[in-house]
Amino acid sequence: MKINHPNLLEGNCKNCLGKEDVDSAVKAAREAFDRGPRPRFHGSARRKILLKFADLIEQNTEELAALDAIDTGKFIYLLKIADIPLALDTISYFNTQCKEKHLEKVYQRAQYKLQAYTLHESIGVVGHIIPWNFLIGLFSMKVGPEFVAGCTMVVKPAEQTPLSALSCAHLAKLVGIPVGVLKVVPGFGPAAGAAISSHMDIDMVSFTGSTGRLIMQVAATINLKPQCLELGGNNNLYYLMSINKGQNIILKKFDFKTRGAIVPSVFVHFAHGVTLFAQRGEICVAGSRVFVQHGIYDEFLLKLKEKAKNWVVGDPFDPNSRQGSQVDKTQYEKILSYIERGKKEGATLFYANWRRNVQKIAVRHLSYYIEPTIFIDVKDDMTIAQEEIFGPVMSLFKFKNVEEAIKRANGTKCGLAAGIMTNDLNIANRVLRSIRAGAIWINCYSAFDGDCPCGGYKMSGFGMDTLKKYLQVKSITTPIHNSP
Ligand code: NAD
Repeated sequence: MKINHPNLLEGNCKNCLGKEDVDSAVKAAREAFDRGPRPRFHGSARRKILLKFADLIEQNTEELAALDAIDTGKFIYLLKIADIPLALDTISYFNTQCKEKHLEKVYQRAQYKLQAYTLHESIGVVGHIIPWNFLIGLFSMKVGPEFVAGCTMVVKPAEQTPLSALSCAHLAKLVGIPVGVLKVVPGFGPAAGAAISSHMDIDMVSFTGSTGRLIMQVAATINLKPQCLELGGNNNLYYLMSINKGQNIILKKFDFKTRGAIVPSVFVHFAHGVTLFAQRGEICVAGSRVFVQHGIYDEFLLKLKEKAKNWVVGDPFDPNSRQGSQVDKTQYEKILSYIERGKKEGATLFYANWRRNVQKIAVRHLSYYIEPTIFIDVKDDMTIAQEEIFGPVMSLFKFKNVEEAIKRANGTKCGLAAGIMTNDLNIANRVLRSIRAGAIWINCYSAFDGDCPCGGYKMSGFGMDTLKKYLQVKSITTPIHNSP
């Protein structure tokens, strides 16, 4: 396949845009909103367009997957079987919401002989700032609900990865989404990103990224716009044995084979979602902190090592690869520095064969491969345990009982996601209620659905992209008997 894009060979974001471009995109979005996407696009029209959009994304799966693989280094098979189907699901789901009548509620105020009702109106022009790690998926999670809500959008993809968002904007135009309803402005954070977050004519800022502090500061000091912040994670996976009612650990052999392909799921388990190493750790829900119950710990380590040895890291376009390249040099060096920090602070490098497979590939001028890296003897307060590494680095923790595991796992500042692998659903139910995380998977991991919220606790953010977020409520009161 030949991909012809000006950004490809000259370095990412060659054509990055700045404040003036954001100003003109916001102007177009404002005009499109004020002309009123709602009157011009009633439910059925909107529905037709979204369906066509989903169709066109599907028809362009090969190209979109290739663009994201080139930009991010993620291996293409994963993009084709996970990211793009998620985008399609999401857009198709929101397509079904176009005609829903859940936007109004009537209140009786009989004592005053009045009645009131509420209208849920589109919030207006939404400015999006998105990270580099999950392009097409995040793009669809934003565009789908907003289009249904009647918003117009200015989207800034991360500077490292503008290609698939630009391509989607082109597809949007082809299906008849009016110019101004969706504008993509590729640019650097401090330029285009800051221009969006501080813009006075944007009605809401939706930010997905690491900490969101700058975005909040701008709102507090400049424009006081409502925000949706979806932030970083540092996520826990539990591997639990059965326990009996008295909570004594039963030291029977854990059923590694049948319990949802337990160990392989740490690597990749396509049937139930995709996990740490297949995503090169570059996913907000990466299950990098793995708590394993002591009765199964040794066997778990053995199986993990076996799996790691056969794991293929390499060219994202090679069908044999299971893990591609890190996104760029900065990220690569950041991950290596975390690995060094882990060693210095006293964790044991149980498995690290990274650099084994380093190779250059044709379409990316530079490729940064890091093999699965597994630490044991990790103390709860070590840097690698406490910070989001965003790389294929796993820390293993051994624990005795469930209470201990919950307490230790909750001991981080993030609360995005967690997974529970067990053959005892009673334990799973107990644990899931005590974990402070926005999304929990049981005997699977990292499986997303367009209509299922994935919010955050603690410093993993607040607010997420659902239809409600993009609607503003207005109440209208009138006399019950409407005579003068
Ligand atoms: P980042 O915070 O560095 O950047 C995110 C976006 O913000 C980019 O588009 C960047 O250009 C922009 N930006 C940078 N400086 C800015 C500024 N001064 N003003 C406005 N915008 C600015 O994050 P990243 O490294 O690109 O992405 C990885 C992070 O995103 C991880 O922490 C990951 O966990 C998180 N993430 C969270 C979710 C979620 O749903 N919670 C989803 C995906 C990624």
